[in-house]
Formats: sequence, C-alpha cells, structure tokens
Amino acid sequence: MHLETLAVHAGRTPDPTTGSVTPPIHPSTTFLRAADGSYPHGFSYARENNPTRHALEQALAALEGGSVAAAFPSGNAATSAVFQALNPGDHVLVAAEVYHGTRLIAQRFAEQWGIRVSFVPMDNLEAVQAAIRPDTRLLWVETPSNPRLTIADIAELATLAHAHGALCICDNTFATPILQSPLALGADLVMHSTTKYIGGHSDLLGGCVIAREHDAFFERVRAYQVLGGAAPSAFDCWLLLRSLPTLPLRVRTQSASALQIAQFLAQHPRVRRVYYPGLPEHPGHTIAEKQMRGGFGGMVSFEIDGTEADALALAGRLRLFTHATSLGSVESLIDHRASVEGPSSTLPPGLLRLSIGLEHPDDLIADLAQALEAL
Ligand SMILES: *Cc1c(COP(=O)(O)O)cnc(C)c1O
Repeated sequence: MHLETLAVHAGRTPDPTTGSVTPPIHPSTTFLRAADGSYPHGFSYARENNPTRHALEQALAALEGGSVAAAFPSGNAATSAVFQALNPGDHVLVAAEVYHGTRLIAQRFAEQWGIRVSFVPMDNLEAVQAAIRPDTRLLWVETPSNPRLTIADIAELATLAHAHGALCICDNTFATPILQSPLALGADLVMHSTTKYIGGHSDLLGGCVIAREHDAFFERVRAYQVLGGAAPSAFDCWLLLRSLPTLPLRVRTQSASALQIAQFLAQHPRVRRVYYPGLPEHPGHTIAEKQMRGGFGGMVSFEIDGTEADALALAGRLRLFTHATSLGSVESLIDHRASVEGPSSTLPPGLLRLSIGLEHPDDLIADLAQALEAL
C-alpha cells in the first residue's frame, strides 16, 4: 500500500463496540480480567500497553515499513531507551553532528553507564570505518542532521555496521517516513522525535523507536518503556494518530516551500552560506537524491555575514517566522541554535535554522527579504 493510504488507515479501524469512526481515546489505566485470570482484550495495565498507544505503534511501524514500534513520551526518552538497551562495555559511534540532546545523552548518561562513545563524521565513510572497533555495537546516524543538514549514506553505513556485527539506527525526525525509509535502506532501527513533523502542531512531546525485526534488542528497548516507565499518555498518542493522515501533505508542502526559500537565500548578498540538501551545491546532494524521495525536507539553515547579535536581531525582525526553538509544525519558526545550545555549542554565531511551515512560500520569502535588507 502507498504511504498516503497507510497514513489514513494504519492503526485506525472503526470502534467495534460503538461504531465510532474516529478512534476513541482510552485513558483507562487498568483493564478487566476474566474468571480464569486472563485478560480477554489483551490489555492489563496502561504502562504495559494501552489501546490508543497500541494503535499508534501499529501505524508508526507501518509507515516506516518496520515489524514493531514503541512509542515514548519524548524523542529523548526514545533515545535513552536505545542507550539503555546496550550493555556496559559496548562501544557506540555517534554522528559528529547530531541533535544536541542525543549528544548530551551519549556523553552524560551512556558514559556514566560504562558505554563507550566516539563521535565521528557520518558523511565520511573512511572515518567511520577507521573508528569501528571490535566492541562497536551501534552506529547512531542522523540524516539530514541538525542543524547543518549533513547527509549520511544510510545504505553504506548499515552495510559497514553489519560487516562488524553492529546495529545501525537512524534518527529520521527531519526526513519523516514520507521522504526517507531507513529500514528499506538497511538500517535496523529508526528513531523519531514525534514532537516534530509527526505531531506537526507544536502541541505535544513524543518519540518512538521502530525496528525492522522484533528481536531481543527491541525487547530491551520495549522494557525501558514498559518496566522503566517511559510510557506516553493516551491523549498524546491520540493526538499523534490524528496528525498522521495529513503527514504526507504537510511534509511535501513544507519541503517544496523549503526548496524555494533555500534558492532565494542562496542568491542573497547578505547570506554567506545556505545548508539545504536540495541545492545541487550541497555536498550531500547526490546521496540525498538517492536515498530521499519527493523532496529534501522542510528544514533550511543559513549563515549571515554578521555576529550573533545580528543573527538574533534578524530573527526578531521577522513577522511570519516565530523566533522559537523546535520544528516540524504548521507555523514557520526561526531558531538561533548556538545560543540555544549554550557554551558547549560548536555552531557558527551567524547560523540561523528555519523550520518551514504551511504559509505561502512567497509570503515567507517576502518576510525574509525585508529582514535581510535591514541587516
Ligand atoms: C527534537 C529532536 C530530538 C529530541 O526529541 P524531543 O521530543 O525534544 O525529546 C531528537 N532528534 C532530533 C533530530 C530532534 O529534532
């Protein structure tokens, strides 16, 4: 089935008891037992599972082409679950440019638990090959990456990981299952911050891990959800289910607008550099063309000729772009990542990251033009 059809139908069937076409929310934390002690509907206690969460997990697994999914109360909870599934002494290769929270989890928690972590540029296969050790258990890939939209070759990295007995996970938050299918390219696991495009309305926190095979490693990820207690609320799962049918439309529109905006910025005299994998001059363009479909995503970063103060002032002059962190929502956002990440950030002071919303691209371009003119 096509993604558009799955986005509408996966995990959604009319409620058999009431005929409700819209999926109901199941807030109950506890479920009826039969006289023989069994659970006739398959649910016992909400931390273990809940019908709304179960429906969401089925839909997410279907969209990514996986066997099974686990939903979490945030993207970082999903990331933590994967690190928790490793053993002390395991070595993990993490992309040098990776979501800030992922880097902090790897540095602060994983190392504290005896997991060894190396950071490596995932767009440099020789560097990855050289960094793999006999104890390497996991490659953590993020493509396009936050915030410079670096592209890593998922198929090559998965092959490299498997040749050394390691697993390959891809943070697919920026691309979404609509534009990129890491499992089909050979990755073993996919992670999302569903707070972003999948939720799509800046009104919930969520995360998920989807696995190609329902294997022992996934069971350990599941244990962190069920036993560790990293379970999302039924209401948030329901909101995510409500967002899924429009995901293909939203992402494709945002992606088409992002390309136009990247082209506008690339020719602007006050812009030093644009980071967008859809531009032919982007170093990862060829790989992005090969592994993404129907667009290059709704995220665009650019560097102005100026200081941090100039970048912040530019963000403040915009009328349609809201100056706020996060991404993937219906409204366009602009974010100055270096000041969000704080003193440990390695990002240039003039770098701004755009999350393109569903406004008309001409209006967004006019807004950027007036703010850049005042620089
Ligand atoms: C936001 C984000 C995360 C973390 O997700 P939360 O829902 O904020 O915990 C992880 N990876 C990427 C790429 C993100 O953008």
